[in-house]
Formats: sequence, C-alpha cells, structure tokens
Amino acid sequence: MTMRVLVVGGGLAGLLAARRHLRAGHRVVLLEATGSVGGAIAQSVLPGAGDLALNTGAEAYSNGSGAVDALVAELGLAEQIVAPREGLGSRVVSDAGAHRAPGASLLGIPSRPLAADVRAVLGTAGALRAALERFLPASLGARPGATVAQVVRRRSGRKVLERLVAPVIGGVHSSDPATLEFAAASPALSAGLAEHGSLTAAVRRIRGRSAGSAGTRVHSLSPTMAALPQTLQARLLAAGGILRTGVEVVGLTREETDGEAVWQVRTSRGEELSAEHLVLACPPDTARELLATAAPRVAAAIPQAPSAAVRLAALVLDAPALDAFPSGTGALVAPGTAGIRAKALTHASAKWEHVQRALREALPSACSPHLVRLSYGRPGEALPGREELIDLALADATRILGVHLDRSQLLDSAVIDWERAMRQPLPGHRAALDSLAALLAEQPSLELVGSWRAGTGIDAIVRADDSLTEGSPS
Ligand SMILES: Cc1cc2nc3c(=O)[nH]c(=O)nc-3n(C[C@H](O)[C@H](O)[C@H](O)COP(=O)(O)OP(=O)(O)OC[C@H]3O[C@@H](n4cnc5c(N)ncnc54)[C@H](O)[C@@H]3O)c2cc1C
Repeated sequence: MTMRVLVVGGGLAGLLAARRHLRAGHRVVLLEATGSVGGAIAQSVLPGAGDLALNTGAEAYSNGSGAVDALVAELGLAEQIVAPREGLGSRVVSDAGAHRAPGASLLGIPSRPLAADVRAVLGTAGALRAALERFLPASLGARPGATVAQVVRRRSGRKVLERLVAPVIGGVHSSDPATLEFAAASPALSAGLAEHGSLTAAVRRIRGRSAGSAGTRVHSLSPTMAALPQTLQARLLAAGGILRTGVEVVGLTREETDGEAVWQVRTSRGEELSAEHLVLACPPDTARELLATAAPRVAAAIPQAPSAAVRLAALVLDAPALDAFPSGTGALVAPGTAGIRAKALTHASAKWEHVQRALREALPSACSPHLVRLSYGRPGEALPGREELIDLALADATRILGVHLDRSQLLDSAVIDWERAMRQPLPGHRAALDSLAALLAEQPSLELVGSWRAGTGIDAIVRADDSLTEGSPS
C-alpha cells in the first residue's frame, strides 16, 4: 500500500518535506493554516507604486553552500536568480558612527581583525584586542550552552560584541546576544572554533580568505523570493500532491494497528484526516501542543524557542539624494544607538538592480524612485505602534542614510507584521535538539522540520531537507 503522508505547515520546510515524500512515491496531503503557502517567504504589492511586488519576509538567501541555488535551478528558476549590485558593501551603525561592514566576517566576527575596515569600526585598541583572540586557548568561553555574548566578549572583546556582532544578532536573528546560544546561532562557527582553535581561524576557513564585502554571498529571486514557494506549490500539485490552504490543524492523535502507527489530525474545519506518516512543519510551540497527548515524550523534548515579533516599514520614496546609495546595500544598527530605533535598513533599490528597474517601470513619472525597508523589534523592547511607524521609519532612515527624508518624498508605504516567524534559540538549544533527534529515531513515522530545528534561514532549511533526502530519517 502507498504510504499516506500528512504535512502540517506550508512554509519552506513543509513544502520541501512534501516534495521529498512525493518523490519517494508516497501520497501527500499538505495543510496550511493561512491563505497561501510560503510562510515567512512572502510578497505583497504596493498599489501606490504601480503594483510593485515587494518581499515582505525573507528577501534573499545565503549562497555559501550552493544548496539553494541548486534547488532553484532544479525548479527551473535559474534565470530568476539575482545577485546584489557589486562593490557597494553595507554599513554598521553604532554610537561610534556609520562604517562600512568589514568584509569576510561571520556573525559579525571578522576574519582579519587588523584590517583597515575593522579598525575603523573598533578603533586600534579594539582591533588589537580582537587580534589577540587567535592566541587564546580554544576552550576559553566555549563551554556547551554558552551564549553569543559569553563567547564573543571573552574571546574577541567587548567592542567586537557591541559594534559588530550585536547588530547582526539583532538585525538578522531578531535576537539578543546575551540570550542566544552560540552553537545555535552558528553551528558551523561553533564547530570551527573547536576544530581550528580560534574564532578568527574558523571564520577565515568558513568564509575563505577573500575579503569580499559583507552581504555579497547572497542571492535572491526576481521579481521576489515568493517565486520559490509558488513554484514548489505548482510542482507539488503537478506531481499529484494535495495542498490545502486555510486549513489549520488543531489536534492530533496516534493509534497503533498491527504495530503500525496511524496519525489522525483534526482540522479547524472539523475534518479528521489520517496518515501513516506525519510531518510537523509548524512552529515549535504548535508542534509541542499538538503532540502533547499523542507523543508526550517528544512534545516535552521540543525546546522552547520564544518568538520575536518583527514589524517592518517599507518606504517607496522619490529621492534623488538616494541615487548615490549612501549606505551601500543597507545597514545594521547596534542596540542602544542613540536616536535610532530601527535595527536594520535595507536599501532594496540599491542592493538589487531588478528592484530599481521595476520601480522605474512602475513609476515612470517619478524622478528617482527608491525602495527602503526598515525593521523593528528587539527582544525585550515594545514594538513601535503601527500608526507612528512610517514617521519613525522616515526619521530613522534619515539618520542612517544621512539624507533628509520626509513625507513629501513618500510615494507609498506598507507596514508588515511577523509575530511568530523568528525564533530565539535559548542556551541548551543544540543539546535539546540532539536529545530530540534521539527520541525521533524511535518514532520513524514522525518528522519535525522547520527553522527552529534546521537553523534560521532558507539555506539552513534546504540543507536540512537535502540531508533527509540522502537518508537519515530523524
Ligand atoms: C521578516 C523576516 C525576514 C527574513 N529574512 C530572511 C532572509 O533574508 N534570508 C533568509 O534566509 N531567511 C530570512 N528569514 C528567515 C526565513 O524566512 C525562515 O527561517 C524560513 O522561511 C522559515 O521557514 P519554516 O518553514 O521553518 O517556517 P514558516 O515559514 O514560519 O512556516 C510555517 C508554516 O506553518 C503554518 N502553520 C503553523 N501552525 C499551523 C497549523 N496548526 N496548521 C497548519 N499550518 C500551520 C504557518 O502558517 C506557516 O505557513 C526571514 C524571516 C522573517 C520573518
């Protein structure tokens, strides 16, 4: 009999799991709670900007491993791959000013602490302190479960932590270095520290010795990243998969017949569906709740990873002063920087030529149309209100970009909320994931996937799915 597989959650992890099971010849039903698939990879259109489509969630993917490029090519989207405009670099903004983000770094940790771009941010004393890191014993600061702040402050010094690492952890991971587990933030760097003896050596090894500008190892898709989930959806349907949106899974049970597990899910529409194999591709707290009685040991082993709410402001501006791309592709802002509440700014029309082209086509009467996206929401801080957000974003963009911006230049804007999409792995997360994997090995009819397990980001999710395709089922 063909195995029936139920996938709960139609974000990237769920779509890839559905694809993997269809390829293995199984019958697949995917249930997604919202009206469309893609989860945190999403787009919306700006009516005041000629229906320009903009990324409302993920806007790019890390290209270091090549895994996402390979997937995208396999899906026939290779011609839609775009790279950031070359040579612009990005900025880090702190109370020390706005500086070009050092090249060849990882999590903000530089591979060449004495390089001029690092000295500009840290000052000579801070750079010398960072350079000492490679002479410290590999074990210093690296006990299991240590936070990013503990490892980086002890090894590389306070300035590296505050001016280079905290902006990345806040802006990219929506987290706080004081609570984010180092090994969960970057498993590769954590393993590299043990293997190569220092963070500096590990970053060098991982990023290569080239000093390419930070941020250039990413790709995106034109017109938006939503092309990825949309194409996966089309392929799943073409391969005979069933994909239903607007269907939330609200409960599940597990029964055993002749030693074979049968999972039964209850949906928000009052239906009951059953399958021999269950994939939960929803957030960890939802997976915990759903499994509480059906698989209590697994449920209890799912690590808590609190969600960080993120609020984004997208601004379409007619501003000739932005033609010079004053912050390069964008900027990450250190927590506590006076006068700026945003944690990150992406100058999308500087970073991506296809965005600039689309803006010019959509707004032929505008002189210099630009798209700028700012993000808000640091752990422990209240989000700025939706009503005040656009004015706040204009003020923050003015300070970050060093160009006066106000409502007279605003052609359109959008406020986008993500309440549960970003997870903050707490100390002990990696060890908890290892114990969970051991438990799941005893439950081959159950799979748990998603960024809370694979790591934040599209590349981590694709690599995790690739490794399952290659054969390790947990
Ligand atoms: C604002 C933002 C910007 C980002 N930028 C980048 C970036 O530039 N590059 C990058 O690589 N990564 C980025 N990320 C991270 C990346 O988008 C995520 O790590 C990834 O998309 C998560 O995929 P997922 O499948 O694990 O989870 P999700 O995308 O969260 O999908 C989970 C899905 O499960 C559904 N669901 C939940 N409960 C149920 C239920 N009970 N029944 C049915 N369905 C359910 C949800 O509706 C959702 O669709 C960003 C994230 C955000 C929020």
